[in-house]
Amino acid sequence: MNLLPRRYHRIKQVLEKRQPDLTVLTEDVHKPHNLSAIIRTCDAVGILDVHSINTTDEFPTFSQVSQGSDKWIFLHTHPDIKTAINYLKSQHFNIYAAHFTNKSVDYRDIDYTQPTAVLLGAEKWGVSEEAANLVDGHIIIPMLGMVQSLNVSVAAAVILFEAQRQRLARKMYDTSRLDARRYHKILFEWSYPDIATIHQNNGENYPFLGENGEIIH
Ligand code: SAM
Repeated sequence: MNLLPRRYHRIKQVLEKRQPDLTVLTEDVHKPHNLSAIIRTCDAVGILDVHSINTTDEFPTFSQVSQGSDKWIFLHTHPDIKTAINYLKSQHFNIYAAHFTNKSVDYRDIDYTQPTAVLLGAEKWGVSEEAANLVDGHIIIPMLGMVQSLNVSVAAAVILFEAQRQRLARKMYDTSRLDARRYHKILFEWSYPDIATIHQNNGENYPFLGENGEIIH
């Protein structure tokens, strides 16, 4: 059964704004509502991939955290922080830890139009020393009140919307930034998730889609 054209064009519009070179890495952020809020913010900012590590037993299941946004975001889990950071470095990301140290800079001083990963630390302990030593820099949101830190999902939103502001100014949302192969693959999967699964199980390529999202056999 074909998708309604309006739904197809909405999916296409969202996918065309996704930023493959902007991502988040969460380190032991284990509360489902925090991870959920971060993922929802990522969707709003146009992030496609989120990376996560969790060394505690409390890693929430995907369904707990996603609140529906898992359909539009790819959550990649890594066994440990070093593996996650090495992976992002191999993909040419600059990695900035949202972290309070004497070498932290104001989060607005970063150029988020470059390939950027923002590392967010655990609710209680923050970013680990190991992670802090492996990243390219530390950023802070200035705190002028009585409390010393923001909720992790709030910090994520503040930083990511600055990234969005910079990318909007550079017109980075105006044309699709995904490579053609990934774009068409995701477009089919988001449009026809059940049919995509059948094709995957059969080891078949996806069919082509017409102008209004109709399947061309
Ligand atoms: N006691 C922890 C610490 O010293 O880092 C506080 C952790 S905070 C609740 C959780 C995470 O939110 C932090 O690791 C950091 O990534 C982010 N965060 C919260 N407030 C921030 C701020 N003002 N600037 C940068 N990052 C912040």
